[in-house]
Amino acid sequence: MSALFYRTATPEYNTNFNRGRIFEEDHTVMAELLASGGTLDMVRAVLDNGADAVYVGPRGWSRRRAQYEMNDAQLFASARYAQSTGKILRVAFNTLPDSREIPLFLAKAESLVKAGVLDFILTDAGVMRALKDRFPETRIHASVGCTIVNAEDARFYKEAGATQVVTECRIDRDEMRRIREEVGVGLEVLVHATTCYTYLGRCTMSSYTRQEWRRDETGKNHFLGSPNRGGLCYRVCLTEWDQSDRDGELEKSGVVLPNQAYFLVEDIPALLDLGVDTIKIQGREYSVDLVGEMVRFYRGLIDAYTDDRASFRMEEWTVRMASIVAARDAERREKTASLISESTLPA
Ligand code: SF4
Repeated sequence: MSALFYRTATPEYNTNFNRGRIFEEDHTVMAELLASGGTLDMVRAVLDNGADAVYVGPRGWSRRRAQYEMNDAQLFASARYAQSTGKILRVAFNTLPDSREIPLFLAKAESLVKAGVLDFILTDAGVMRALKDRFPETRIHASVGCTIVNAEDARFYKEAGATQVVTECRIDRDEMRRIREEVGVGLEVLVHATTCYTYLGRCTMSSYTRQEWRRDETGKNHFLGSPNRGGLCYRVCLTEWDQSDRDGELEKSGVVLPNQAYFLVEDIPALLDLGVDTIKIQGREYSVDLVGEMVRFYRGLIDAYTDDRASFRMEEWTVRMASIVAARDAERREKTASLISESTLPA
């Protein structure tokens, strides 16, 4: 029998530490370490602590609260800082614009390209094609929001202009290998994130509880409650729900939908062996100190493994990771409570 869910209260969310996939290949490659920067201070912390690249989001274009997105001046300052360190700034336009917003996107992209930014994270296939046609020198990563779960998905986005694809968190090692071998596109794997109840980037739940929109002075629409259209997710899946049958009869209360922290620490050696091109850490809303600590951790782990695979031991890294997880959980819990409190329109 199918079930319907109704939201009731807000529980603590679950953490599932170090679950994931195991690989067995025996060849090492250097992978890029990529982390997120919600502010200029975070961009500095990410790059100063050992990441090879940092990604940021222009305001209204990148699925986050405006506070953690950047205006043009902040984007250019981030680009200058990345260039001064010889590292990469990648700009995420990972929302789904309407036709009137495409010229706005291209104008923003042009100003970034002129400032030396060639790396972009995109979700919309039309936007990819438009950017590649206009600026063939750009490098495009197909976002996790593209829901790339098989080789044909990867091929589609490659043909749309993507040089690299972020694989969906739920795919296994065989799919990754198949995408790499059959499609010949770069592979990017999220190792530090939170999975969604739905596939990442496919959820519309927040828009059922609160949706507002406004058009800014440039003509860009901002849809609060719709991360796919440039607003933000209110994490409403993390509240408790009543489950009813089709006739409305209550079956169960306090149901928590699956939405779990996702850390593939123990898989990193195998991912490196597989030849993954980018190891990616999410977390644009963490404190600067925590972001710096997380990046140092992953930099150290990747270097320790690639420097001396024979004597590498995972145990010390899982111990160190536990304290990062605790700090991360505390910060995320606070942010989640704040988002949920905003998830309905004020009376
Ligand atoms: S409401 Fe939950 S499932 Fe939906 S986007 Fe937000 S975190 Fe993901």
